[in-house]
Amino acid sequence: MESDKKLAWGLIGASDIACTRMIPAINAQPNSHVVAVMSSNLERAEKYAVDNNISRAYGSLDDFLNDPELDVVYISTTNELHLSQTLAAAKAGKHVLVEKPLALTYADALQMIAVCKNAHVVMGTNHHLRNAITHRKLRDLIAEGAIGRPLAARVFHAVYLPPRLQGWRLNKPEAGGGVILDITVHDADTLRFILNDEVEDVIARSTEQGLASSDLEDTVMGVMYFRNGVLAQFHDAFTIPHAGTGLEIHGTEGSLVGESVMTQDPIGRITLKRGSLSEEVKLEAAEDLYIRSVHNFNQAVKGNGKPSATGEDGLKALAVGLAVLESSKTGRQVKVRHQ
Ligand code: NDP
Repeated sequence: MESDKKLAWGLIGASDIACTRMIPAINAQPNSHVVAVMSSNLERAEKYAVDNNISRAYGSLDDFLNDPELDVVYISTTNELHLSQTLAAAKAGKHVLVEKPLALTYADALQMIAVCKNAHVVMGTNHHLRNAITHRKLRDLIAEGAIGRPLAARVFHAVYLPPRLQGWRLNKPEAGGGVILDITVHDADTLRFILNDEVEDVIARSTEQGLASSDLEDTVMGVMYFRNGVLAQFHDAFTIPHAGTGLEIHGTEGSLVGESVMTQDPIGRITLKRGSLSEEVKLEAAEDLYIRSVHNFNQAVKGNGKPSATGEDGLKALAVGLAVLESSKTGRQVKVRHQ
């Protein structure tokens, strides 16, 4: 591929996240644009294409993948479809950026990674939070020793699910609904990224507090235990309108407190506390999280570096999410699968 050719992206799934965040992010790049969308319903694909200024609409995955112009496929369907659609896209030679959770089982996610590798296509997972300037700064400060040895983390990620998204997440276990596969996997990815460490085991309690049905959870609290000894507490929910979000890391010599940092928008602030000092950390200009995700993916396709979150990152976050699910069902501490 010529390095100055604009990458042609196609969307699998006429989804909310694609139209609210990813289409603008792809089209914001000088070197990529969205050219096609595929939906299980051709009429909806056609309307979505018109609404979002996309040239071609498909109602069949085969026809979509046979579109010779497509270089990259972005998969943002419900979670049970990510496996088969990733395998088909990779077999068609398309690079694949897949939404989280990567799949519904560890084995499926492993297979997705292997098939993409064998097909020599780039695979990424759209864990957007690690693109935030706040989280990148937290990672750098911890690596520099700003708070000494990290001992504890607290993640506040309890939000109110917007009414327009109150569908399959709340009532379709077979689509991978529930707050754990939706939000806890983001916590796991963000903590892994910031701490540069892996979760060893988890313990969690989930429940249903008014929105979810069909045996799905809309609230979970729990603890992840990291290999280097950090205990990370998390609260994720679809049911809490006014809590605000945050992420704190507490170490032997200081604390880093991130406010409003578990969001889709490039907002939030960090305070460093050490001894008698408590000061807001200066951050470089914030960049849209999804624009950075697409930028890094495009660069990887052009042979420069890796996606912000790779397929392996998606697998590791999923493994934590699956362990949290199991713990919340059994009431037991569960080891996270690593291979
Ligand atoms: P949506 O519910 O908007 O879309 C999911 C699927 O539902 C679409 O693929 C579409 O099917 C179908 N659908 C959408 N609208 C309609 C409709 N009006 N009538 C019938 N069917 C419809 O899901 P989200 O955009 O919220 O989530 C999609 C994926 O993205 C999930 O994997 C989720 O976890 C992930 N996500 C990631 C975020 C992030 O920041 N990284 C944020 C939000 C979601 P079809 O394929 O047939 O078009």
